[in-house]
Amino acid sequence: MLIKELIFASNNPNKIAELRAICPDSFSIISLKDAGIITTIEEPFETLEENAKEKCRVIYTKTQKFCFAEDTGLEIAALHNEPGVRSARYAGEPVNDQANMDKVLKSLENEKNRCARFRTIIALYLDNQYYLFEGICNGTIAEKPKGSMGFGYDPIFIPENYSTTFAEMDKSLKNNISHRKLAFDKLFLFLTQL
Ligand code: IMP
Repeated sequence: MLIKELIFASNNPNKIAELRAICPDSFSIISLKDAGIITTIEEPFETLEENAKEKCRVIYTKTQKFCFAEDTGLEIAALHNEPGVRSARYAGEPVNDQANMDKVLKSLENEKNRCARFRTIIALYLDNQYYLFEGICNGTIAEKPKGSMGFGYDPIFIPENYSTTFAEMDKSLKNNISHRKLAFDKLFLFLTQL
């Protein structure tokens, strides 16, 4: 079976842009907007895996077309892997990236262990079953936000083997080493082997 396009079950323009930049030319990612789907997608569960599956299920039910979804969390070792699945709303509603970063930095005040990782789970729904693909990017939490690129927690996340935050990096560099890239590469390999 040759799948050449997939609907990406997300309303997040940053994620759509990153995935399109990562995606090989032979393949296209259709956003919900392009597919004419206007809907909010909830993240009601306690794991990234369940949320990714749920987002995929909602869009597949509406479209009956090939689709995938992803859920990402920032897991901080000294905070017992918090905020994790609660990353988007760590500082409460409404979602606010700056408030989330402030809360992380406050929680890590005087903390020496700043190890963290981004973990992305992609869920693909195909032939009545889900397939999951994981991407992990290890790193550390900076002492203060730096940089203006990217989104979310990028200004406070320094990936392993680098000295700058994701938000200080050229987008193409982030897209080459990120959790989302690693998960998407697995998805793409799977699709090309079908
Ligand atoms: P969700 O996967 O949309 O639920 O995102 C969870 C939270 O992590 C949100 O606050 C996002 O802004 C943030 N997030 C997701 N991916 C990234 C990333 O690649 N860099 C920085 N923050 C991210």
